[in-house]
Amino acid sequence: MSTSISNKEAAGMLEEIGIMLELLGENPFKARAHYSVSRTVENLGEPLEIMVGSGRLSSIKGIGKGMNKKLTELVETGKISEYHELRESIPPGLWDMLKIPGLGPKKVRDIYKKLNISTIGELEYACRENRLVTLEGFGKRSQEKTIEGIEFHKKVREQHHIHNARKMTEVFSDLLLNLPGIKKTGIVGEVRRHCEIVNTLEFVVCIDLNDTIEVIDRIRNIAEISKLTEENKNSILIKHSDGFLIRLYFSDEKNYPIVLFQQTGSKEHVSSAIRSKFRKEPVCNDSGVLIEPALDGSDDESEIYKRLGIPLIPPELRENSGEIEDSLPRLISDNDIKGILHVHTTYSDGVNTLDEMVNTCIDAGYGYLGICDHSQTAFYANGLQPERLKLQHEEIDTLNEKYQDFTIFKGIESDILIDGSLDYTEDILETFDFVVASVHSKLNMPKEEAQKRLEAAIRNPYTTILGHPTGRLLLSRKGYELDMVKIFEAAVEEQVVIELNASPYRLDIDWRSCKLAREMGVKIAINPDAHSIHGLDDIRYGVGIARKGWLEPDDVINCLISEDIGEYFKNRKIIP
Ligand SMILES: [Zn+2]
Ligand SMILES: [Zn+2]
Repeated sequence: MSTSISNKEAAGMLEEIGIMLELLGENPFKARAHYSVSRTVENLGEPLEIMVGSGRLSSIKGIGKGMNKKLTELVETGKISEYHELRESIPPGLWDMLKIPGLGPKKVRDIYKKLNISTIGELEYACRENRLVTLEGFGKRSQEKTIEGIEFHKKVREQHHIHNARKMTEVFSDLLLNLPGIKKTGIVGEVRRHCEIVNTLEFVVCIDLNDTIEVIDRIRNIAEISKLTEENKNSILIKHSDGFLIRLYFSDEKNYPIVLFQQTGSKEHVSSAIRSKFRKEPVCNDSGVLIEPALDGSDDESEIYKRLGIPLIPPELRENSGEIEDSLPRLISDNDIKGILHVHTTYSDGVNTLDEMVNTCIDAGYGYLGICDHSQTAFYANGLQPERLKLQHEEIDTLNEKYQDFTIFKGIESDILIDGSLDYTEDILETFDFVVASVHSKLNMPKEEAQKRLEAAIRNPYTTILGHPTGRLLLSRKGYELDMVKIFEAAVEEQVVIELNASPYRLDIDWRSCKLAREMGVKIAINPDAHSIHGLDDIRYGVGIARKGWLEPDDVINCLISEDIGEYFKNRKIIP
């Protein structure tokens, strides 16, 4: 007898075996037996080790031969081999899903087996795409509850998608501005740089520094704050009850622009910017405020950059990726976007009708909309069979007649099959104005196979845009590790556009690849992949990432006006 497993640990393992059996859809009695023995073991009143040693364990009610064997193995070796075998066969993400209120093993199994979803992130995305509604045993209400449960779960985690971080930044800024003694606040850090994932919300808070103690006391009284730590004389770190980490830098009026500058750019950006002019490392005081070179008294950031001898660098670019040496691009902005491509409607898994999507785009001032519902292989998303496709095209024709100054393009989000081919026959593919080709299955392919699959899709003469190229879901699924140079080479040769999917859960391609794409002459489409009228707003997160990736309006096809993009689609369509 060499191990000392506590009764509690042993009980925990039996319970986990029960859960795993349920997750795998094994006989429910078997799972229940494990739960019941788990409770028995927890309440034994005597160490399991002694019970096993004395041979008395098997005389306890409910502990049969099999259970006795497992517990003896545990006491003797510290392991239950069945436990470890089961563990191997279950994706780790399913355990996370079980932490969501309302999701037990049976429901998690259905989600895993029927929708092929194995992480919380994928589940959240599926809910947003409205896919739980049709799953047996679920429905609209249960989908809503799942979203609530996921939100709750995320509160205990500290990384956040950009859209949630931005919302929280606005809310918290308002709270701060309501406190006496706070003159103004400035957003800095990852949110101001439009990073795709935010770890900490950061603000510069302008106060009279003689009032710091009083101001901190007032902040401490904000109901939503669960913990406040003073990091140094001029900065505090807050844990918000919604799971956000928030850092505040206090500054007087005089140093406010310097602190804005210092806390917005990455550390490397700030020191490179200073070194480029002063040829030495910056020197800061105890509170981290720059004292040398002395840049205080600057009215705003543009004056600071002027004194550093470089043009004012947009916050998104302050990552030390060439912004100090290279000439700056004429960055794209929201107003440059002339139309929207890649949205879903009630024809597949969208929430709103074609007409509703069109009207929202017209109201927002766009000139066109490209409809891309799911294709026939995407049965889980009510993908379009040829007959329903025909109906949709008729409706588009009617709406195009009705709205004279607005164009609806017939598009599709065609699944890329395992071998890289698209999932309609040529006579159907020919009926579209444009085709977005996307991967939705087998997202865990080995690198080389994934590369081949996508390159084949790019080479398909009907592909206009490669949708969400890596397939990543931020904070949950890594996506394909692609050789982007090869992807872009193929895209240039075939005149295929690369999507920058603007959903804040995807933001795919990554901004780090955008600059390369631009240098290689690849065209980009910033697409919201909206599944409802609200999803259309996501376009701005895509524009933020495009800015971060150095893109200019000329690089982005949906900066073309309606007539020009229509021509673009026609001209690049090579009929084989
Ligand atoms: Zn898609
Ligand atoms: Zn889509």
